[in-house]
Amino acid sequence: MPKTIEAKSTPMNKAAFHIFPEYCKGCGLCKEKCPNDVLRWSHSLGVYGTPIVEPKDEESCIACLICEMVCPDAAIFIEKYPKVKNK
Ligand code: SF4
Ligand code: SF4
Repeated sequence: MPKTIEAKSTPMNKAAFHIFPEYCKGCGLCKEKCPNDVLRWSHSLGVYGTPIVEPKDEESCIACLICEMVCPDAAIFIEKYPKVKNK
């Protein structure tokens, strides 16, 4: 049976932040490259027993996807919420 990889998910204002601890090696690149300094080290551990990242708050993420793009291990998925059109 295929293995299920579970994400830790945090809902934010513009997107949901998903991280897959089994892929995160704790390199800190996402944290370093985030333009709004949204990410911090979490108490949860990743694949090598090092901390994974988590958002500090719900407001400061602009859903730019940089963290997702720079992660060498594809451990982050930013799920942008659909835009609601005003009629
Ligand atoms: S999507 Fe952009 S603003 Fe949000 S946590 Fe990632 S790098 Fe930071
Ligand atoms: S860039 Fe990827 S592997 Fe490195 S700390 Fe961030 S989520 Fe983990």
